[in-house]
Amino acid sequence: MATAESEREVPSALCTEFLNFSAKDTASKWLQTTDLYKDVYQHLARYVPKIYCLGPNLNPQSEDLLAQLLLQAPLEWYLCGEDPTTGLVKLEKNNQPAQLCGHVFRVGEPTYSCRECAADPTCVLCMQCFLGSVHKEHRYRMTTSGGGGFCDCGDTEAWKKGPYCQKHEPNISDSCQEDPLAHLSTDMVARCYSVFSILLRYAVDMLTWENEDELPPGLEPPDRNDMFYCMLFNDEVHTYEQVIYTLQKAVNCTQKEAVSFATTVDRDGRKSVRFGDFAFCLQAKSVIVRNTSRQSKPLRVQVMHSSVVAHQCFALKALQWLGHVIGYSDALRRILCQVGLENGPEGENTSLVDTLMLSDSKMWKGARNVYHQLLMSSLLMDLKYKKLFAIQFAKNYRRLQTDFMEDDHERVVSVTSLSVQLFTVPTVNYERLQSDYVKDDHDREFSVTDLSVQMFTVPSLARMLIIEENLMTTIIKTFVDHLRHRDVQGRFQFERYTAQQAFKFRRVQSLIGDLKYVLISRPTEWTDQLREKFLEGLDTFLELLKCMQGMDPVVRQVGQHIEMEPEWEAAFTLQMKLTHIISMMQEWCATDERVIIEAYKKCLTALTHCHSGFTDGEQPITLSMCGHSVDTIRYCVSQDKVSIHLPVSRLLAGLHVLLSKMEVAYRFPEQLPLSELSPPMLIEHPLRCLVLCAQVHAGMWRRNGFSLVNQIYYYHNVKCRVEMFDKDLIMLQAGASMMDPNHFLMIVLSRFELYHIFSSADCRKSYNRENTNKDVVQQNNTLIEEMLHLIMMVVGERFEAGIGQVEDCEQIQREIIHQLCIRPMAHSELVKALPENENKETGMERVIDRVALFKKPGVTGRGLYELRPECANQFNLYFHHYSRADQSKAEEAQRKLRRHKGHDTALPPPVLPPFCPLFASLVNILQCDVLLGMLGAVLQWALEPSGGHWSESMLQRVLHLIGMALLEEKQQLENDSEDHDVSFNFTLKMSRPGEAPSNTASVLALLENLQSAPHLEVHKDMIRWILKTVASIKTIREQTASTSTVTASGSHRQEEMVCDKDKAERKRKAEMARLRREKIMAQMSEMQRHFINENKELFQQSLEELDATTSSSLEHSPTSSDTALVCVGPRRTRPGEKRQVVTCILCQEEQEIRVDGKAMVLAAFVQRSTVMSKNRKRPPHDPDRYDPLFMHPDLSFGTHTSSCGHIMHSHCWQRYFEAVQAKEQRRQQRLRVHTSYDVGNGEFLCPLCECLSNTVIPLLPRAKVYSSCEQPGLGQWLNTCGQQIKAMHAAHRKLQPISADAVDQTVDEECPAPEGFRVDYTPLSPYSSTVKEMLTTFGTATYKVGLKVNPNEQDPRVPIMCWGSCAYTIQSIERLLVDEDKPLFGSLPCRQDDCLSSLARFGSACWTAASQSVVQGHFIRLLAALVPDPHVESSRCILDIDMFHLLVSVVLSYGSVHALDSSGLSVDAVQLHLFHLVTVAHMVQILLTSGPGETTMEQDSGGAECEEEEAICRLYNTLKTHLGSSLPEVSSGWHLWQCVKTGILPYLRGAALFFHHLHGAPTPPQLQGPCPGQWEALCGYLGLPSNLLQLYHSQQDLLEPLLQGWCSHSGVRQTLQGVGVLVSFPRESNSLIDLPDDYSALINQASSFTCPKSGGDKSRAPTLCLVCGAMLCSQSYCCQTELEGEDVGACTAHTFVCGAGVGIFLRVRESQVLFLAGKTKGCFYAPPYLDDYGETDQGLRRGNPLHLCRERYRKIQKLWRQHSITEEIGHAQEANQTLVGIDWQHL
Ligand SMILES: [Zn+2]
Ligand SMILES: [Zn+2]
Ligand SMILES: [Zn+2]
Ligand SMILES: [Zn+2]
Ligand SMILES: [Zn+2]
Ligand SMILES: [Zn+2]
Ligand SMILES: [Zn+2]
Repeated sequence: MATAESEREVPSALCTEFLNFSAKDTASKWLQTTDLYKDVYQHLARYVPKIYCLGPNLNPQSEDLLAQLLLQAPLEWYLCGEDPTTGLVKLEKNNQPAQLCGHVFRVGEPTYSCRECAADPTCVLCMQCFLGSVHKEHRYRMTTSGGGGFCDCGDTEAWKKGPYCQKHEPNISDSCQEDPLAHLSTDMVARCYSVFSILLRYAVDMLTWENEDELPPGLEPPDRNDMFYCMLFNDEVHTYEQVIYTLQKAVNCTQKEAVSFATTVDRDGRKSVRFGDFAFCLQAKSVIVRNTSRQSKPLRVQVMHSSVVAHQCFALKALQWLGHVIGYSDALRRILCQVGLENGPEGENTSLVDTLMLSDSKMWKGARNVYHQLLMSSLLMDLKYKKLFAIQFAKNYRRLQTDFMEDDHERVVSVTSLSVQLFTVPTVNYERLQSDYVKDDHDREFSVTDLSVQMFTVPSLARMLIIEENLMTTIIKTFVDHLRHRDVQGRFQFERYTAQQAFKFRRVQSLIGDLKYVLISRPTEWTDQLREKFLEGLDTFLELLKCMQGMDPVVRQVGQHIEMEPEWEAAFTLQMKLTHIISMMQEWCATDERVIIEAYKKCLTALTHCHSGFTDGEQPITLSMCGHSVDTIRYCVSQDKVSIHLPVSRLLAGLHVLLSKMEVAYRFPEQLPLSELSPPMLIEHPLRCLVLCAQVHAGMWRRNGFSLVNQIYYYHNVKCRVEMFDKDLIMLQAGASMMDPNHFLMIVLSRFELYHIFSSADCRKSYNRENTNKDVVQQNNTLIEEMLHLIMMVVGERFEAGIGQVEDCEQIQREIIHQLCIRPMAHSELVKALPENENKETGMERVIDRVALFKKPGVTGRGLYELRPECANQFNLYFHHYSRADQSKAEEAQRKLRRHKGHDTALPPPVLPPFCPLFASLVNILQCDVLLGMLGAVLQWALEPSGGHWSESMLQRVLHLIGMALLEEKQQLENDSEDHDVSFNFTLKMSRPGEAPSNTASVLALLENLQSAPHLEVHKDMIRWILKTVASIKTIREQTASTSTVTASGSHRQEEMVCDKDKAERKRKAEMARLRREKIMAQMSEMQRHFINENKELFQQSLEELDATTSSSLEHSPTSSDTALVCVGPRRTRPGEKRQVVTCILCQEEQEIRVDGKAMVLAAFVQRSTVMSKNRKRPPHDPDRYDPLFMHPDLSFGTHTSSCGHIMHSHCWQRYFEAVQAKEQRRQQRLRVHTSYDVGNGEFLCPLCECLSNTVIPLLPRAKVYSSCEQPGLGQWLNTCGQQIKAMHAAHRKLQPISADAVDQTVDEECPAPEGFRVDYTPLSPYSSTVKEMLTTFGTATYKVGLKVNPNEQDPRVPIMCWGSCAYTIQSIERLLVDEDKPLFGSLPCRQDDCLSSLARFGSACWTAASQSVVQGHFIRLLAALVPDPHVESSRCILDIDMFHLLVSVVLSYGSVHALDSSGLSVDAVQLHLFHLVTVAHMVQILLTSGPGETTMEQDSGGAECEEEEAICRLYNTLKTHLGSSLPEVSSGWHLWQCVKTGILPYLRGAALFFHHLHGAPTPPQLQGPCPGQWEALCGYLGLPSNLLQLYHSQQDLLEPLLQGWCSHSGVRQTLQGVGVLVSFPRESNSLIDLPDDYSALINQASSFTCPKSGGDKSRAPTLCLVCGAMLCSQSYCCQTELEGEDVGACTAHTFVCGAGVGIFLRVRESQVLFLAGKTKGCFYAPPYLDDYGETDQGLRRGNPLHLCRERYRKIQKLWRQHSITEEIGHAQEANQTLVGIDWQHL
């Protein structure tokens, strides 16, 4: 619609009106009127439709200007009573602002919450306030805002400490309580009042107006023109795609326009899609409705009169204006609040704000946003009115929530539509689902109900609302009302939930959030009123819990598997959401004795009500065992209904503990209904639930499917267990403490369905004989194990304050110890394993240092906490929160640790804290008859090794229980030294034999027997520990019994003897262990020998590889140390002749490298690169027309070649590649998914190392050495060369079709070729056919990739690209060596050495595969850049040439010219001359570009190089004579010389690398390490004088004319005057951009970044290019562009410009590094930001402050500089196949 927009013009009629209009006059008219309301409305009626909505576009900027002049200006004049420019300033000056920051957060802006001082986690600071606050030094959390909400700086209720930042610190002189209106004149107040009420009424009228065609009375336009809009609204039902498709059909727009419409609808909630007369719009509407009504409810479309839309637009403007004006003065703000909350004529709840709120769900999103903003900046900023508003809000609460439930327009809309834009990475899906599952939903951000957080979390307001508006009850009632599905008993029923219901259910959950806000701060003082209302709320809450008690019951499936998995998530979601609420309720109760007593009573009543008649229809039975009997009911978990949801029981359990903790139970026992408690009733349901878990573990419920498994999982999971599993256990403890332990155990046995096994008199014998069914035996074994474990937990879990005598922090400390007993863990792992409270705190920080040591991470990995060794004795193998897997891991780790320390491997139970009195009787379970009977039975079974009807873990548990009992006794003896009569006497009981009839052995006797049983080796240490403990207890008892010291010493000796025996035993064991180890070692080395024999080839090969590297490194060492080593020119050092033999990795055959042999190739990867670019602004070249012959010194696009160094026969590789291709074809047909490599593009993985490759480089031998030749001087050679070139020109012309102007030239051109130079000679290629083929292969690949064109081996640019790649690769390696601080030679891995040699030698041979004349032509043009040649038009300016590229190309192309020469001209001599020429040119280039300006360098010791200094001055002056004023004056030759020296060094180093690899001359030792005199060594190796200027001055007469030619090129002057790009030398290595130390600075930067395409909209995925620093709007429709015929996201598009297809980004919102390569490849990489615990936070979920880790960032930079990004992606994709499926190009 862009065209339509530009066609529009402001009507001329308006122009005249506009010119005549005076805001002042209008305002003064208003000041005199009697009916202001009418006048203003008339004014609006007249002007609004003339400004707004005259064309198809609804809100362009120009209209805002008009509105300001015609509408707002008069209002401001009226308001101020004078010129507003002065009036408003006065207002602002008189204002005494409240000390609230109130900054409203943008989407994605960072927010900070202090974990030490914030009243609750919803209290946040903006970045500015945070940085100026004390909390900066505290432990804080950083999150990104979802938009909305404001900074709480200055709110004293939000912060326990430091409520003000420096900026908002109040002045002491301020009288805070003063009425802000006092500063205003009464006139002013009156005026404000009337303007505000008229305008607010107008806005409310318009925004809630539902008539599409008519206007409210008083606003009818004087002249009505009938234009209409077809307005499209958003909804939740339709996807982006559907809307886009429909729009294209309905309003005939392009896809792009449709996308833009859909985006706006999504953002603003509505958008006009057509403008015209009524019929025209109606037609569009009907098409849209028809098109979208088929599957679902149609899209909402209205045809609206343009004047209605116009007034709505201005209404929004007016609200914004109000928000703006009240910003000047708190007094104005207060007036607006007053106006807004004033009741209308209709009575209660009819204020304008009420009207707005209650229409909220009917408004479109854009309108809601505007008025919510106004509410926030007015009512919520004024302390007095905030309270009034809160009351009004609470009054409307129920209705608002109900509307919200029914509302279509909401964020869920945008979320579903977003899912098209946002892809989710499959691997993180699960975690994300999990966190969504429990995370607070932000769904409400577009609803007015979302404002609740601003009021309910203010403690004083919340308390007031509870008392005055009964808010707690209201919220819970509203909540219950919306969950209507119940079963016959009135319980919720979530099975068979429909999608619609599920959606609503999600909404309902937001109510729980509100309840949480209300409860989040606990009262410090209770009033009777508060008690009353809280208990009323609790009553309602119990009603809710009663609906959950016993919901979704399950029945064990026998025979058949269940048909359909029942829905279980809804019930658990509810449970999870309520978990914190339940905990908070308990915490509230814990602050007042009267409240807890009442709450306990209420809860007990509720529970009794739930279970009234729980024995109905159940047959009572009597159980008896070991002389005890008890009555219970007949109930089987495995046959009857059982439910996992028991919130009422669990709440009671929680309150019961509080009775003990608060000591209410002891102080006011008469007020408690303790006598009414029926312990068997209390334990019944929790016990059933625990038995259910045991049976599931035993495999009895397999046929009930995964739904049950999941429920059991969550029951124990850290998110739920606090109010599920933990409380069930507590309930058992509470019940058992009030029962006879024998009775308790019999009921437990009965519920576990094990009673029959242990009850029979001869159970010790019969059990193992009776059952022959293996499954049943197995099941029973597991059940017995689980039951024993349960008994341990009932007796042993005493770390909850109130059960045991512990402090609160001991519980968490114990959790941490047990986690760390499994293995060392990272901070986040620990946090995940610990329950969080409603403030998302685990309390870990307070205790972690007491129990653990922190180990910092390296460059990879993360920081870990390790258990302090002294805490290991607190380890309990049967810790109740261990899963079976955790348990076995911990057991293994702890045994290993003990062995390591030379201890025995017994893991006895730890010493436990004593119980609180209310639970004290629980210990008696350990010494009761039934338990001893059970222990005896298991021990007896264990004595018979062959039985198999017992299990080792059963025995282990029995031993553990015995250990617990012994420790209990020992502890009681030690503590109660005064009272000799310790009633707990396990040692006595355990030595008593069994009952008379069966006459069984005592437990002690059984243990002594077991000690010698050969099949129980593992448990020996534990049994020994038990017997030792028994002995020591006996000693204590004897000691206390008799006062004699003799016995004591005797016992001491006895103990000592035990101890000695112990030591000897341990020694024996250690010896045995050593022998075992030795045996194993011997076995291992035998195996190794065997392995080598079997895999001979493999080893052979790796040895040979080793060999190959050593041979090549031998070349580096000098053959004779006294001759100077030189790598180029006639004097170059000849390397020894050596056959080079390599092995093919595919067929394992050896092969000598020969020109006429079978070709051998290296796997290689060619890529385009901008890593060294000095000009990222240069657009990519047009691939078809680009002439790459000269590389620009900005190195903007290069071609890089790398290799993994693996060698193959060319034919072996071809076969391999064909196989890969065929396989890929089959696979694609079958699976239609990508691989990590693109076979179609020639990519494959190296068959040995799986390194990504896309071609191969042939290996070639060194060029033959020509013996003594003619070695001309420079002048002579230039002469010869000139003649040769002339001859070639002539010859080339003959080949070309004769054109008109060419004919003229040939006439005077008659030049004889120099002697021995045959232009018509076609040299024979020395290479074998396979080598030739490979020359073409690599050449074509380099050409194809380097230019991004289709392969064409005939293209004249093929050899150029090859030389370019050789030069670029050498340059980049030279840079790397400098950056890594490594010597020039000897430090490269051999794969790079091999790669460079092959590249250089390939370069010198590639001309043989191309057309002769073409390559000669290249040589001629290259040389012409330095030596003028009249036949070459437009030679390149030397400032536009990268000299190293020139050197490499000219040297390598010379081969094609030399081949024609038979006169014996020395190649070496020519290469040297070429080298010298280019070097001189480079010096000149450096002097021209980099010489002056560098005055910062301090002059070093003068005189040492005065010869050079003088020479350089002379050269510079020569240049000045040619160029005059373009060159600045330079005073010091020293500066010039330093510039040249540093500037030319990279070039010289590159040249040394190049010639070394080309000719293989050994390298001097000075260049292999960090020695002084590098410069001299380098010049020497290159055959250059160390005073480089001699090159020029010694041949001045020859070079001076050339120099003049270079300087006279027009390009030189232009470039020096600033046209084009001036590159100076040395070119610094590029770095990735600097990142801030604090990650939140990045988040802040990203939050103010707006999408560049959709006017000012926030970007959803701001992404930072780490190469150039550009911020991009990634992963979104708005910024997709077309690239080579495909739609790609902003990142992919950016990589093509910035990184030649390769990109490194930081996804700021996700804190994740993104690597991209091409359109199909990408991976995520760990970001360089770590928290204090040495962990990254990918996805920013944890919110710990993040800081830059420089080492990790350097590592990423190194990957980039090494050109390894693509390789890294390849490896990541191979390791994680899901990465392959992602549409990377859409990022
Ligand atoms: Zn702030
Ligand atoms: Zn502040
Ligand atoms: Zn703080
Ligand atoms: Zn081979
Ligand atoms: Zn390889
Ligand atoms: Zn965008
Ligand atoms: Zn970039």
